Amino acid sequence: MIETNNFKVIIAGGSIVGLTLANALERAGIDFVLLEKREIAPDLGASIGLLCHNSRVFEQLGVVELLNTATVPLLDRAHFTKDGYQFEDGGVLKSVSDKTRRPFRFMERRFYLQTLYDNLLDKSKVHAQVGVQSFVENKQGVTVFADNGDRYEGSILVGADGVYSTVRQLISQAVAASDPLRAKNLMSPFRASYRAIFATSQNSNFNSQRPFMPDGTVHVAYHHGISGVAATGVKGLVFWFLFVKENETTSTPDCPRFTKEDEEATIEQFGHLNLGSSYTFRDLWNSKVKTAMFPMEEGVVKGSWNNGGRVVLVGDSTSKATINPGIGGNTQVEGVCHLTNEITELLKRSPTLSTQDITDMFNKYEEKQRPRAELTVALSGFLTRYEAMETWWLRLLMPVISRIPVSWVSTLLSKHFADGPLFEFLPKPNT
Ligand SMILES: Cc1cc2nc3c(=O)[nH]c(=O)nc-3n(C[C@H](O)[C@H](O)[C@H](O)COP(=O)(O)OP(=O)(O)OC[C@H]3O[C@@H](n4cnc5c(N)ncnc54)[C@H](O)[C@@H]3O)c2cc1C
Repeated sequence: MIETNNFKVIIAGGSIVGLTLANALERAGIDFVLLEKREIAPDLGASIGLLCHNSRVFEQLGVVELLNTATVPLLDRAHFTKDGYQFEDGGVLKSVSDKTRRPFRFMERRFYLQTLYDNLLDKSKVHAQVGVQSFVENKQGVTVFADNGDRYEGSILVGADGVYSTVRQLISQAVAASDPLRAKNLMSPFRASYRAIFATSQNSNFNSQRPFMPDGTVHVAYHHGISGVAATGVKGLVFWFLFVKENETTSTPDCPRFTKEDEEATIEQFGHLNLGSSYTFRDLWNSKVKTAMFPMEEGVVKGSWNNGGRVVLVGDSTSKATINPGIGGNTQVEGVCHLTNEITELLKRSPTLSTQDITDMFNKYEEKQRPRAELTVALSGFLTRYEAMETWWLRLLMPVISRIPVSWVSTLLSKHFADGPLFEFLPKPNT
């Protein structure tokens, strides 16, 4: 048994999910310590989207104003065939924005992370350059051993440590002898059939000095086995992605790690293709500020997301969606809401807690989050294949799908966002 008023959360991972959880726990008045194996807000990756439902919870956490002032709302979206012909300029983004009063936004990942970190009142609880290596638990709590030799005591350990989660691997190792199938699922939950270049470029064509696209716009290009997305969510910059179907599917933990030479070879091969009607991937590449290439892992961890004790997974360690619609990271923030809501409820219930109370609470969080994660992974995976026109039947469907009325799509999307969770222990945001 532990006493509720001594409850402390150890968070492994200080990226979007770990830092959002830290902010939520701080607002809830729950003690925590966050361990991040790299620096906080590293200059890695490129951009990340903020959708309507996450804007609502970020309003509750007091970070949304800063994110909004640094960005331009995305209100226009145009779709292009492989020949650069614009076949759809649907008003979906504008319509969803009107319905939810919270437009889509896109920004540098580093800025997003830094804003979450800056918003924390007590930064002494965040330890950068400290990686979780192992843990032991008993009836009183959990002890985490870090790679710098330090140890941290807490009531629960939350693995917000991404696709290649150490915490998930530790759970896998612990069950390997008794349940080899579960161990395998935990070690190898995601597949990658596409690679993605994530890039940020100046919004100014190197050749003509003209902007590639107006601010606040999204372009989507449909090729065969390849697609592209570009978004001007911050003045002067284009965030863009090139998605390429791989010849073979790989699985975590053996998905490829790409070098700068691999990235250049990918541009060499596909750079001549159009993204918008008047510019190519190569044009964007020539104006680049920052680029990276990653495999696009996708899937949902099967079985339970906790170890039947005091350890639970949240974020990309539980599920990973392809990035075409930009929903993945937002769905992970929903997981933070569900988990924090369950923790606060549990702490209200009783002055003492058993390990079973904690495991039951983890299961309730998962019951709420898993369907949202599964839907996100399925829809994102479909969109990746559809935009890449992966099969003949998707090519046949294109004229039908592109004629679905904007009002239907925006109603469905707005409902999905409205159904997203809020932090129940904080005042509701304005509607
Ligand atoms: C380097 C990087 C770049 C990315 N770039 C983009 C991008 O440009 N666009 C986009 O849409 N998405 C990007 N993503 C993915 C996106 O950030 C996540 O999908 C989403 O934010 C959910 O995040 P998460 O916090 O669950 O996991 P992640 O963002 O993957 O973060 C996991 C964190 O845990 C830390 N960590 C790992 N192991 C340990 C350990 N043993 N102990 C302590 N800490 C540990 C990692 O350093 C990392 O900071 C990137 C992810 C990473 C790791």
